[in-house]
This record gives sequence, structure tokens and C-alpha cells, in this order.
Amino acid sequence: MYLSVVSPIFNERESIPLLYEAVKKALGEIKDWELILVDDGSTDASYDELIKIAEADPSHVRLIRLRRNFGQTAAIAAGVDHAQGELIVLIDADMQNDPADIPMMIAKLDEGYDVVSGWRKSRQDNASRRLPSKIANWIIGKVTGVPLHDYGCTLKVYRREVITGFRLYGEMHRFIPAFANSVGAKIAEVVVNHHPRRFGKPKYGLERTMKVVLDLFTVKFLTSFSSKPIYLFGGLGFSLMSFGMILFLFLAVRRLGWGVSVVASPLFTISIMIFILGVLSIFMGLIAELLVRAYYESQDKKTYFVRDRRNVN
Ligand code: UDP
Ligand code: MG
Repeated sequence: MYLSVVSPIFNERESIPLLYEAVKKALGEIKDWELILVDDGSTDASYDELIKIAEADPSHVRLIRLRRNFGQTAAIAAGVDHAQGELIVLIDADMQNDPADIPMMIAKLDEGYDVVSGWRKSRQDNASRRLPSKIANWIIGKVTGVPLHDYGCTLKVYRREVITGFRLYGEMHRFIPAFANSVGAKIAEVVVNHHPRRFGKPKYGLERTMKVVLDLFTVKFLTSFSSKPIYLFGGLGFSLMSFGMILFLFLAVRRLGWGVSVVASPLFTISIMIFILGVLSIFMGLIAELLVRAYYESQDKKTYFVRDRRNVN
């Protein structure tokens, strides 16, 4: 299988036939593709629409129905788990993304990239959605070191190897490029179409931005320190210990100069507390190291990723 298009669906009854037709039209030139539609516990007639097209085109359309609404990320993960393509495209089902962009994105991928990310340059959502997302994109870019304009755009093309290696939790589908980057993927960004929502309702409000920022902490930790947590905790520990010690010495010297009792100063207690916090942080790092070993070794996970092999088994 060459190409899998995965689309999460929650109450998108009217858009489903349009999505299918648009995908079919866009992929006309590609003979080997599948469209994986994941019904994320829709409560409207989405599933009936899905059955119709799955029955009409069984060679292309695959259908997965989740038992309840698990959220967009989980629905995407279910689709990816079932995808057989060498390339995997993620796309929203509400027709805000345009399937017609897919061939152009694949062409870009073929220039030697592992991820091609869509950028909704003229985004058709309210300013109240666009501004927080602009700030979030900037922060995510700084923190992960992958400066994309539009993490939130679902329409992205991935080589199979860079998307199947890790599990997705919370709102994390948007961070797949950051995970991919951490395993050495090359990432490109292209401007894609974006349309106003014609049918159904948007499923999210502002609270999503907060979830995204919280997820960012996890992503940063997982991508930068998951195989070496003691570097983070230990680094923090050493800094705290040094700071505590310097504060202590400063107080001691000041006492020599001014004759004030060190013990009477609350700063004295604080300096010792900071020092102890540093020691604790290093111990926490050691515990995290144990957890990491359980994580990698129980699942036989590797701490490296291979791009290509020649003459080796
Ligand atoms: N979606 C889903 N499960 C959910 C919420 C959303 O599968 O719990 C799907 C939804 O049907 C759509 C896509 O995720 O195909 C993006 O949702 P939406 O258009 O509401 O988000 P936005 O375009 O505002 O980012
Ligand atoms: Mg949408």
C-alpha cells in the first residue's frame, strides 16, 4: 500500500460524502490508496453515511468505529494503527482542510522530507481562535526547536516510520512533527487551503490552548530527556545546590563584616532548604532513570532510530 489517508470524525454527517468525493478526486492519479475513516463516537447520523461509502467503495474505504468519543488524537491514533500505507496523511473530516492539497504535499515529501506540514496561511476561523494559536505556535516552535507556523493544522503527510513509533495521548497529534524531529525526521512546511466550516460545529474552544501548552511540557520532556532524565533533574539539582551554597556563603561573609547573627536570618534557613532541594532533585533523577529503564527494556525499545540500512540484517 502506498498511501493511507486517515480522518477522525465526530458528528460530521454532512461533510462525510464531500470528504470522500474530494479525496477520491485528489488521488485520481495514485492507484494505491486507502481512506481510513474513524468514527469517534458520533451521535448524529455520521456512521450511516460512513457505512454507505464503505459499502460503495470497499477497495478504498476502511471504517473504524470507536465505542465512545475518545477525542481527536485517540481517533487519529486508531486510524494510524490500522493504516498500511508507506505514506500516511492526516486530514480533518469537516472539509476545512482541502484534500486537493494532498498531491502537492506528496510531491514536496518526495524532495527528500519525512514530514510535510500544512500551513493554513489564510486561516478561516475567528480571530479569537487565531491569535492564541499564533502565540502557541511560536512557543511550541521555541521549545521544541521545530519552528512551524501551524502545528494545529491536521493536514500533514508523514512517512510511516516517523509516525508509528510512539503513542499519542491527550491533544498530542499536533506534536507529531516534534516527535518526528526527535527521531531525526526532515520536516518541510507548505501553505495549504483552508475553508470556513460549512456544516456541523467546531468541537473546541479556548480551553484547548491550555491543554496544548500543558502537553508541550510532556513533549519537551519526552523528546529531550526521556532516555536521560537525570540530566534534567541532576542539572536542576546542581544549580539549586550551588545557589543554596552561594547564598549561605554570602550570608556568612556578611555576618563577618557586619556582625549580624547568621542563624537569625530567614535567608539562612532558605539557603539550606534550597541546597536540600537540589539534593532531592538529583535523587528524583535517579528514580526517573529506573523508570526509563523499565520503559525501554520491558518493551525492547531502542534509544536510536535508523534511517537506512545497507548490507546488514
Ligand atoms: N474530532 C474528533 N473527535 C473529537 C473532536 C473532533 O474526531 O472529539 C474531529 C472532527 O470531526 C474534525 C476534526 O477532529 O474532523 C477537527 O475538529 P474541529 O474541526 O472541531 O477542530 P478545528 O478545525 O477547530 O481545529
Ligand atoms: Mg475544523
